[in-house]
Amino acid sequence: MATAVDTRMSEAEWAARQELAACYRVFDMLGWSEMIYNHITVKVPDEEGAFLINRFGLHFSEVTASNLVKIDIDGNVLGDPAPVNRAGFVQHAVFHRNLPHAHCIMHTHTTAGMAVSALEGGLRPTNFYATAFAGQLGYHDFEGVTVRDEEGARLIASLGDKRAMFLRNHGILVMGRTLPEAFLTHWSLQRACEIQLATMSMGTPLEVPAEVIAVHQRDLSQAQAPGGPGAADFAAMVRLVDRTDRSWRD
Ligand SMILES: [Zn+2]
Repeated sequence: MATAVDTRMSEAEWAARQELAACYRVFDMLGWSEMIYNHITVKVPDEEGAFLINRFGLHFSEVTASNLVKIDIDGNVLGDPAPVNRAGFVQHAVFHRNLPHAHCIMHTHTTAGMAVSALEGGLRPTNFYATAFAGQLGYHDFEGVTVRDEEGARLIASLGDKRAMFLRNHGILVMGRTLPEAFLTHWSLQRACEIQLATMSMGTPLEVPAEVIAVHQRDLSQAQAPGGPGAADFAAMVRLVDRTDRSWRD
């Protein structure tokens, strides 16, 4: 296993690379990879304006700590040349640039997430997970593939003060102050979408009344695992990945 000393990187950058590489493997294990597309990005903690992203052309299952690419806010590669999907980074850059708390940003095209993003009415408060997001989701109308900088202001406006966002007809976008926090948000939203998909395939779902939604959202923090939002959840998923493949550490 490589270390920060072997790679001549700061301890902070190497730790961020390891956590992000593990996250790509967790996403793949959970069925959230999309051929060679989609991105999870994090800020490099000790280098202002530097971010880590997957190398364009690799499947999520091939991502390792050392093959992640360091880029600036415009998607230019810092260090050794490597292919990066600059187009894919445009929307991440908008949020990294405008939201100081967005350490980690995740965007996926999962079937359930994309399906709900394309549904009139979007995610409805009809299941446990969806109820937790009621009133906390932004929606951004589809304008075509997100490669144009001028869409940025509209993306920020669509998110507003919400926790996460559906890109309509397109997919899920979540962010977090830490990677595990973003992971837990993505997992919960993905589950909400999967269950809505299943429920609507059977008939008309029951909506949870507003007063129950308020109680649910008020009391949810009492059911949180120790260690900060998503920390225990993410660590458990990394242990599962490690049972079959530990190569993300390299
Ligand atoms: Zn996309």
